Amino acid sequence: MSMREAEVIARALVEAKGKSVVFTGAGISTESGIPDFRGPQGLWNMISPQVVTLEYFLKRPDESWWMYTEMFYPTLANAKPNPAHYAIAELEALGLVEAVITQNVDCLHQKAGSKRVIELHGRFDQVQCLKCGFRDDIEKYVSEFMRTKIAPKCPNCGFVLKPAVVYFGERLPEDELEEAFALAHSCRVVLVVGSSLVVYPAAWIPEIAIQRGAKLFIVNITPTRLDSYAELVVRERAGVFLPTVVEHVKQILKLK
Ligand SMILES: [Zn+2]
Repeated sequence: MSMREAEVIARALVEAKGKSVVFTGAGISTESGIPDFRGPQGLWNMISPQVVTLEYFLKRPDESWWMYTEMFYPTLANAKPNPAHYAIAELEALGLVEAVITQNVDCLHQKAGSKRVIELHGRFDQVQCLKCGFRDDIEKYVSEFMRTKIAPKCPNCGFVLKPAVVYFGERLPEDELEEAFALAHSCRVVLVVGSSLVVYPAAWIPEIAIQRGAKLFIVNITPTRLDSYAELVVRERAGVFLPTVVEHVKQILKLK
């Protein structure tokens, strides 16, 4: 059954001639040991989402940094891409995937070799200043915090630095959102992997794409909000399924 499904998706990707976009969510990274923060085993069942709001961060930056360095950073920094991430990177290298649009902050697409990654919810490995826009790699600020237990300050303007992850109550980065919407308008295939498509505005991306006539394919363990609009819904682990799509693509392209 899954061989047939993989072939259907492979054909659609080849026929779209590079006008395909992959949209990923937490589900693709659970196989890399990163908890789906919203899922049944998710972090939000252990800690309150209240503490990952912008409001809480601004009110209690030291406590917020403590939680980030204790609960988020080590898991994300040590995570490795899984076969699903590598398969997507390979599809891009073969010229079939134009970009990956992700809700994840774990940078595993880049670690797997994907070149064009649009991160709608920011990234875990950088800091940003909300006042002057300063950005930097987070590593040294994490070490600094471990020593001082005081939230690091912006070297430019002195305002408190925040991990470059979009917290609840915060806007999504404008440039990334704009780029993602443009792709949603122009792509012919959108492949959703590991997202149940309930978090807005990110979930608008596949919605716009199908309104503009793109074909939708979904690889997700649980039902999603757009299942009824999809050409095909695959209820399999992405790390098992996507490599078979790559195999079929290579057969179609006579690469093997
Ligand atoms: Zn600043």
